[in-house]
Order: sequence, then C-alpha cells, then structure tokens
Amino acid sequence: MNTTYFDCAICERGHATPIRPTMLALQEGDEKWIETDDPSEFFACSECRRVYTLPTVGLKSLPATQGVDPYILGAPMRVFRVPIGCDGLDCRLQLSVLAVLPSNTSDAALQAKKSQWRWADLKGSCGHDIPWPQWE
Ligand SMILES: [Zn+2]
Ligand SMILES: [Zn+2]
Repeated sequence: MNTTYFDCAICERGHATPIRPTMLALQEGDEKWIETDDPSEFFACSECRRVYTLPTVGLKSLPATQGVDPYILGAPMRVFRVPIGCDGLDCRLQLSVLAVLPSNTSDAALQAKKSQWRWADLKGSCGHDIPWPQWE
C-alpha cells in the first residue's frame, strides 16, 4: 500500500490540516506554487474553523491515508483556495485561504463554511487588519 505524506499546517490547538504532498515541497520550483500576488497565505483549520497564517516553513509531514485532491485525483477531500477580499479603503487585496473540504462541496456550501470561520489578528500584506469576523 502506498502511503502519501502530506505537509500539514498545525493550528494552535494541534489539529493538522493537510496542505500539499511532502514530495512536492522538495521539488525545485515549488516556490512558484507558493508565490501569488499576495505572498502571505492562510489556512482554515478543518477542525476548529479558525483561520491562521500559513507558515512558509515548519509544516509537519504526516502520513495521509486518503490524501487530498487535486494532488490525489478523486480523493474525498480537496484543498480549496478561497479568496477573501480586504476591507481596507481602496484596497483590492485578496487573501488566499486554503481550506480542506469534501471534494463535492458546492459554491453555496463553501460560502456557508466561510461564514463559520473566525480569526484574530489577521493582517494582509497591504498592512490592513482584516476585520473579525469579516464576511458580509
Ligand atoms: Zn484547529
Ligand atoms: Zn488591504
């Protein structure tokens, strides 16, 4: 049996959220995957629904029995990249939040999930605080 290792982001309470396969992180050019318009990325803990800054180093490699889409095609869970708009005046920044949800999550269900997320002290690369809770 193949065990795939995934780099997991660990929330303050110790929950692990799989972000990407460990193998990918070791490949050269992986920074491209990380680099977006906004260098800071965030993840939503699958357990406690809190949103944290995704650490660029220090992800924990853990064995995943099922893995996550899109890395494991057809996996029951999938990494979604959810945009959050900054609220700052004239600010167009979009934060990118990685969330692991069932692969068949609809847009509507995704919005519902989003409305349950909470966070504290989130700051965009623009320097604005992202208000809490932010939706609507
Ligand atoms: Zn958690
Ligand atoms: Zn902003």
